[in-house]
Amino acid sequence: MKNNSYKNKAAISEKLKTISKREADLFYSLCDKKPNVIKTKNFKNALLKSGLKINDNRLHNLFRKLDSSGDEIHFEDFKKIISSSELLVEKALRGELALPDFSDFSKSIDKMFDEVIKNKSGELASYIPPLAKVDPDQFGISIVTVDGQIYQKGDYNVDFSLQSMCKPFNYCFALEKLGLELVHKHVGQEPSGRQFNDLTLLTRSLVEKSNKKFTRIPFNPMINAGAIMTAGLINSDDTYEKRLNFVKEQYGKLIGWSANSKFDSKFPRFNKDVAREENFTGYNNLAIGYLLMATGNLPGKKNKLKKDLNTNKNEFDFYIEPTVVDALKLYFSICSLEMTSTEVAMAAATLANNGVCPVTQSRVLNQKTVRDCLPILQSSGMYDASGAFFQEVGLPAKSGVGGGVFLVVPQLMGICIFSPRLDEQGNSVRGIEMAKRITSKYLVHIFDGAMTNADRVNPRIPISKWRANSCGEAIWAASIGDIRTLERLASEQKDLSIGNSDMRTPMHLAAAEGQLEVLQFLLEQGVKPKPDRWGGYGYFDAKNNNHKKILNVLDKLNMKFLKPNHLVEEPNGETDEVAKYDDELMVSELLFAAARNDITGIRQLIAKGVPVHAGNFD
Ligand code: GLN
Repeated sequence: MKNNSYKNKAAISEKLKTISKREADLFYSLCDKKPNVIKTKNFKNALLKSGLKINDNRLHNLFRKLDSSGDEIHFEDFKKIISSSELLVEKALRGELALPDFSDFSKSIDKMFDEVIKNKSGELASYIPPLAKVDPDQFGISIVTVDGQIYQKGDYNVDFSLQSMCKPFNYCFALEKLGLELVHKHVGQEPSGRQFNDLTLLTRSLVEKSNKKFTRIPFNPMINAGAIMTAGLINSDDTYEKRLNFVKEQYGKLIGWSANSKFDSKFPRFNKDVAREENFTGYNNLAIGYLLMATGNLPGKKNKLKKDLNTNKNEFDFYIEPTVVDALKLYFSICSLEMTSTEVAMAAATLANNGVCPVTQSRVLNQKTVRDCLPILQSSGMYDASGAFFQEVGLPAKSGVGGGVFLVVPQLMGICIFSPRLDEQGNSVRGIEMAKRITSKYLVHIFDGAMTNADRVNPRIPISKWRANSCGEAIWAASIGDIRTLERLASEQKDLSIGNSDMRTPMHLAAAEGQLEVLQFLLEQGVKPKPDRWGGYGYFDAKNNNHKKILNVLDKLNMKFLKPNHLVEEPNGETDEVAKYDDELMVSELLFAAARNDITGIRQLIAKGVPVHAGNFD
């Protein structure tokens, strides 16, 4: 018994030690000159720079405590301040949020935005009159990560008409209520290859025993026919009012709205005018409604007019099918909901986060629902441009004729771009261009896999670590003569001429270690000898180590190899932290961060416990 409680105590004190070491590392990462206090301002800035927002519900208490903390904070107070949101703070300070280099990422999206804004091609949607009256120059982009980091630029706070962007969410609501099997008795899962408002239906053969051999259903839930069908499936026994309210509440949850939330999202707005106008002019949709009715697959109650009340003998009371009206009325109403790009990006981030809203942490959709929805978005979300769009951009996405496009990067972020000029397919021109630029710079295409090249970046990894990682493996392989690894890296389009933070390249290491085969392989790959940080070429590494065969090969290149401008013949001493700190990758990440003057990166590494004075093998 005694023994046990001793063990428990020891375990607890061990745990406490690691906890306060973690907290101390976080604290020191924020220190400036004085080691025992941090500036309140620095702490706030570090959190905001990580992409988190002051009105994030999860940080509300923390920011309140910071506001009453004065200019400086001591360690004991720091521990109390972070206690309400310790994990989130830890992730933010250590650079472990979904986008670790948030500032860098933001800057590169800013640049893309400044380029794309010049594109003024495309036309406003005109078949729904109010949509033809919006300011065509509007342009906004919002990105929300699964950790709730938020990037927004331009007209990110402008309400716009959701239109077809509601289709995937309606589909999710129907799936949640009725299940996959039942929903897909009414609507298919196949790309249509046709325009969004096409009247063609999919003919599906019936396996069940019935006298009907075939049934006709919409191709998928992302085109108008399918979306009118799924709208018809949502709580079909309820009144219109209750159904619309249900849908608005679901959207509210998706975008991070809640009655007592501090977060910016507002309850979804219904633009009655847009819905009415679409009712007047949406002939195509009215036709689709009846077409669906004719298939017998549109759910609803049958309550025919009991009796013809018309007294004129030559006339009768025209019957309008209520089932069709109900489905269309709800569909037009949901299309007419208005939101901002940040709100839609939040809904997209909820999909990226498997159904949990990043800022409220509430589960809005089941994981299975999201998993069932994303493949349909991927194959059919961009109407008859879906195939080409997916091939190039590689992300599930949905557009609407209101000018919005959203994209889901699973497990990472939701993106929404709003700009009302549309291309022939009805997709936002700037939205598509922005999406293409994002995937050409970042490795977020679902099928990117290991295929990379020097100027594409994995946004999930801090840039310094990315550099350390990508050149570290090649340098290591070169120094030990591991040709197989170098061949693989070359097939993945990795740049084998990239050096580490001291610009020491695989060729330097091959020369220094006498790896003749590696040197020949690098030359065959077109890698050219380059100087290191001190201006020295691998030639001198080979010379110092007397690798004659290497010198012979390099001599044949007929190049002028300059000597390094400082040469330590006999380096004396060792950085003692190297011996203690054996995580080489983190050390080289630290060196890269220092080389690019990345103070945030250095602070993040300190927060992870890396000693700042650690060094690498050089
Ligand atoms: N409400 C519009 C319609 O049904 C939505 C179309 C769209 O955004 N592509 O025509």
